[in-house]
Parts: sequence; structure tokens; C-alpha cells
Amino acid sequence: MGKKNTERAALKREAGAWHFQKDDLLELSIEDMGVDGEGIGKAGGVTFFVKDAVIGDRARVKVMKMKKSYGYARLMEILEPSPHRVEPRCECHRQCGGCQLQALSYEKQLEFKQRKVQNNLVRIGGFENAEVLMEPILGMEEPFSYRNKAQFPVGRNKDGRIVAGFYASRTHSIIPTRRCHLGDSVNEQVLDIVLGFMERQGIEPYEEKSGTGLVRHILVRKGFSTGEVMVCLVINGRSLPGAELLVDELCKLNGMTSISLNVNEKNTNVILGEELILLWGKEYITDTIGDIRYQISPLSFYQVNPVQTKKLYETTLQYAGLSGTETVWDLYCGIGTISLFLARKARKVYGVEIVPQAIENARDNARLNGISNAEFFVGRAEEVLPEFYAREAGAGEKPAEFCAHGKGTGEAGNCARGAGAEMLHPDVIVVDPPRKGCDERCLETIVKMKPRRVVYVSCDSATLARDLKYLRGNGYELVRVQAVDMFPQTVGVEVVCLLGR
Ligand code: SAH
Repeated sequence: MGKKNTERAALKREAGAWHFQKDDLLELSIEDMGVDGEGIGKAGGVTFFVKDAVIGDRARVKVMKMKKSYGYARLMEILEPSPHRVEPRCECHRQCGGCQLQALSYEKQLEFKQRKVQNNLVRIGGFENAEVLMEPILGMEEPFSYRNKAQFPVGRNKDGRIVAGFYASRTHSIIPTRRCHLGDSVNEQVLDIVLGFMERQGIEPYEEKSGTGLVRHILVRKGFSTGEVMVCLVINGRSLPGAELLVDELCKLNGMTSISLNVNEKNTNVILGEELILLWGKEYITDTIGDIRYQISPLSFYQVNPVQTKKLYETTLQYAGLSGTETVWDLYCGIGTISLFLARKARKVYGVEIVPQAIENARDNARLNGISNAEFFVGRAEEVLPEFYAREAGAGEKPAEFCAHGKGTGEAGNCARGAGAEMLHPDVIVVDPPRKGCDERCLETIVKMKPRRVVYVSCDSATLARDLKYLRGNGYELVRVQAVDMFPQTVGVEVVCLLGR
């Protein structure tokens, strides 16, 4: 069968017809890698995308799906392994799909990410000179065990045993695994305790199809600088029978600081619900980045790789070029991580964030660090900023001191009585939006506010390039670009850009 397919494909190639079809077997040289880490090779002028193939491999592949001008194929056999291939540490890395690059040497992973950013800047942003603007990517010395957070779905395997692990790529079937090599070893200890407890107590894992069962996910977080550990069980209900027994066992783990339940009774893919029930300890753990302390609750967004986050924030600080006299806006500020990092070196920082609890955390974190020159507003950046600007610019610029009215009230617009020209025309605006990038209304207002510098922190270089193009079309030039590898073994890459007016 296989031989027949190969022959058929060969015949077609000779005939010059590129009509490959499903199940054809081909031999390819993998010459490139796509943005999702898939290998790219050509046969008969047609491009094929091959998951799990590595640049430099010579491989036998099977056609899975044809499109008009390209196809998808499955890796069947590696005929000659690429010199850049390494032995993946994780036995389930192919099924899991979380680590798209684990079979590629770390050096090549960094090269891949640097090139991905550069290509997006050139192709989408039109920055032909991207290469000269880019600093060498900042990688990790030890690109494993870097994640401070893990979320394990809980279910039953075929034999009826309770298992936890990760969802197989693009599915909701659980690959049972105790060890993720990106995470901390405390995860395994927590899983053993929770699963053992469930078995003994006869507590059912949640079942998506029927919506029955109790335990949905196990969330574990660790403050790497403090050693504090948080465990939060996401449950389809409001109480956990025998919870005190679980608490007794979890408390024996080094660093245990916070044990809680999160209520999620909805039939949804969203992991966490809104309500938290504290079982033991504090509602948060504490971690430090640089010399700033942060309190992190189960619901807050916090960067998952603290070692690289420090490099990311230091680059942001450096690009902001602060001397102590500047006014700064930090848009999409989350729990105020970047805002507080900058506040030490600025006169005043204003943070804007859509999630109200995150802003509560941001204010708490400011107090915790004795920082009084950071003020936070709840709302969408693309609404808060334009509304504030329209009101203030309309009211005429007053060189007065900042007003006190907006403090803690949430809306930047509330500051209308006497916000200073510094607030309206800050020295620096930092943005750190989610993957979809900045809304154009936000960018438009940034341009109107005329900061001397814009520092753009991005986790998606495609939307970054789109937004940079807009800023360049409106008076800003791209000065420097620093990629930071926040997610080794995966295709993700974080980028910090400096723009000048
Ligand atoms: N700068 C922070 C958070 C970055 S993640 C840090 O480094 O930790 C992006 C943040 O943007 C998230 O906290 C998310 O809740 C927030 N967000 C998403 N859409 C938003 C919008 N339209 N306006 C303001 N904030 C938004």
C-alpha cells in the first residue's frame, strides 16, 4: 500500500501534476519552519507543512490534507535526522503539543524566534531595516522548569482511574502526566496528594459531557523568589467533602502558603470561575521581580517565567529612559507589574487595566512597596484614554498639579478638574496588550498625546508589527527591538520595542 502511494506520487511528479492526495507518501527535506513550529518542505513545487519535523530533517511523510497550493502532512519516519535535533525531555511532547519546539536545539529555537519577529516586522510592518534594529534575543541559561504556574485538568482514564495531566493538542482528552518539564517539581507532589485524596474520599472528577462530577482543574502557583506555594482546586460546586484532610496533607509541603477552592459551575472552556473560597492560609502568595514585591491571587494575571520577566521589565525600563522627572502611562497594566517597576524611576505613573480585581491587586502592590506615585484606572484602554483625552484637551490644558479626585475611583475622566499637562502629554507611554494588540482608538489617542517615547511590549509579533506600522505612519519611528524568550520549548516570543517621535 505504502509503496503504491509512493509510486503514484512519483508518477504525478513526473507528469508535472501537483495533485497530491490524502495518504500519498512522500520524502521531503525540511528546509524551513512555520510560525507554529511546523516543518516546511517542498515536493513537486508544492509546499507541505509537517508537524513535529525539524528544520534539517530528511523525512518520510504522509499527506493528510491538500489545499489549492499547499498541503499538510504527518511525519511518518525520520530518514536523516537534522543536526539541530535534540532528544525531547518529555515523553509526551508530540501528543501534548504544548512544546512545539522541544525537539529543536535551544540555540536554533532562539534563532527561529528572532527570525519570526524579524519576518513579521518586515512583512507586516514594512520595516525593511528590522534586522539592524534588533538586538540579539535574550534566552535562558536553563530553558526548563521555568514556569511558576500550572493548571492540570482532572478526569478518568480508560481504566477508570482518576488522572490529571494536560489536554492533547486541540482536544479535551487528558494525557495523564505528573511531570511537565516546564514546571516546578512541587506540581508532582501536589498532584499525588490531590489525586490520592480524591480516590480515598470517592470524589468524582468533573466530566465535561454530562456536566457532572466535582473537581475540574488543579491550579498550582509558586513564587520562585520566596518559595511560597499556592494550590487552588477548581470545582463544579461550592464545597469539597473532607477538605480538612486535604489541607492537612498539602500543608506538609514546603512553602505551602495558600489553599483555596474556585467555584466554576458553568459549562465552559474557561478554567477559572469568579468566586474564591479560602480553605487555609493566605488568599495570595508573594513573589518579587527585581526589588518589587507582588501579591498574586489565583485569579490574577502574572507572567509565568519570572527569570525572563525580570529581563523583559528591565528592557522596558531602559527603553523608557527615565530620570525621575517623567510622567508615564502604562496601558494594559494588569496587577501593575510594569507600572511599579517604572514608578521608582519616574515622577508619576498611571496604569489602565480592564479587570477590576487586577487593579485592586495593583493598588495593594503599590502600598506593599511603599509606592505612592502610581495611580490606577479600571477600564478599556481604548475607552479610558480617548475619553480622558477628549475631556481634558477640550477643557484646555492646565499646567496645574494632578488632581486628587480620580484617585481610586476608577475613571481617568474623573480627573477632569485639573489634570496637568503632564498627564495629557506624558513623556512615555508603555503598552502591553493581549495577543490581539491595541485597538486603533487607543493608538490614535497615543499619537495625539505626543509622548516622546512609546515602549511597546508584545506577546504577538504579528499584531505588534501591524500596530508599529500605524505608529510609524503617524510620526513615530522604530528605534530598537528586543525579543525575549519567555516561553522556551514553545513558539511563543515576547518583544519590547522603543519608538521615538
Ligand atoms: N503588563 C502586565 C499585564 C500584561 S497582559 C504584566 O506584565 O503583567 C495584558 C493585560 O491587558 C491583561 O491584564 C488584560 O486583562 C488586560 N486587557 C485586555 N484587554 C484590555 C483592554 N481593552 N484595555 C485594558 N486592558 C486590557
